[in-house]
Amino acid sequence: MANYQQEVKRTNKSIILKTIREQEPISRATLAQILHLTKATVSSLVEELIQEQYCCQTGPGRSSGGRRPLMLQFNEQAGYTISCDIGVNYILTVMTDLGGGILHEEMKPFDTNDFTRTVMEIRSMIDTCMKQMKESPFGLTGLAFGVPGLVSREGEILTTPNLDWTQSNIKAIFEDQFQVPVLVENEANAGAYGEKIFGAAQYKEEFLYISAGIGIGAGAVINGSLLRGTSGFFGEVGHTTIIDNGLPCRCGSHGCWEMYASEMALRAGAQMDKDTDMDTLLSRAAESNDVEKALHDVGYYLGVGLVNLIHTFNPQKIIIGSRLARVRQYLEEPMQQVVNERTMPQLAEGCEITFSMNDQYATVLGLTAFTIESFLDKQFESALSTSG
Ligand SMILES: [Zn+2]
Repeated sequence: MANYQQEVKRTNKSIILKTIREQEPISRATLAQILHLTKATVSSLVEELIQEQYCCQTGPGRSSGGRRPLMLQFNEQAGYTISCDIGVNYILTVMTDLGGGILHEEMKPFDTNDFTRTVMEIRSMIDTCMKQMKESPFGLTGLAFGVPGLVSREGEILTTPNLDWTQSNIKAIFEDQFQVPVLVENEANAGAYGEKIFGAAQYKEEFLYISAGIGIGAGAVINGSLLRGTSGFFGEVGHTTIIDNGLPCRCGSHGCWEMYASEMALRAGAQMDKDTDMDTLLSRAAESNDVEKALHDVGYYLGVGLVNLIHTFNPQKIIIGSRLARVRQYLEEPMQQVVNERTMPQLAEGCEITFSMNDQYATVLGLTAFTIESFLDKQFESALSTSG
């Protein structure tokens, strides 16, 4: 019986905190009303949450008559997260508070093919973040990494077709080093989640996020939750065949979508090596026919692949993110033209195609959301096991 009561209490406390996070600032009375709990229950659990520094009280809110109620807010300053998007040719690291607000960021062009050098570089970026952390109740709540490859549901990296990694024990290395929970996710899945929580797809129930960088990956939110696939490998759309017997791909197949519609394809078409930055490439678009044609072709093939995805998933929205989002002004027209010409009107009508507003941040923000949610879940689990 005692266990059952504790379970109920733990669940209520966790739901109260979740509601505060989603609807802050919010009063105790409103919490009681929407959660169908007594005011006494809400008050006592809120008191515990304040004591434990998960939330705090702010000034009085609006009143519908009578005394103005004190409002509650999630204590975003109670801890930190660090998230790291490991691209093929860059590393982006951000430190956030528990509300997902970016407090520090570092973007570095970097050839991540060398695993050991990459790990050293990331460690130094994390150290820089750690130095900027202030004293807080929970400190660093977790680290998260987005990688361009297959990641199992347990966070094990199984293969990275666009990187020469022979080992992949990132999770173990950083858990050992920093003694905090470490999450590893496919970068496109994380990007989709970032768009759902912080970006262009807020409140959308059905959408696809296309991460178009050196390779192409997809994340899908269906019925409001992230689609994982049987083994956690959902979204390897970059390796669907777009041209039968086309260009050989590093995955072992031929004619894959990412050989025609990615940053890699753009660089090949524009005859630019992988160290040329996007801005240089763009500045040459106006004067070079090669660059202009490469941009047009990438837009065209992006559209061809999207037509397949729209017919497969019937999404409400498709968001194109990662590096190609930066050249949207060149891609949009040829892409949209193919989509308009080839998509069945009934499916085309309901589907909006946009480019990410978060641009390079979708993946790190998704990782951050995963870390915060998993931290809060664990906090309430452990409260039960230690007090029971
Ligand atoms: Zn392939």
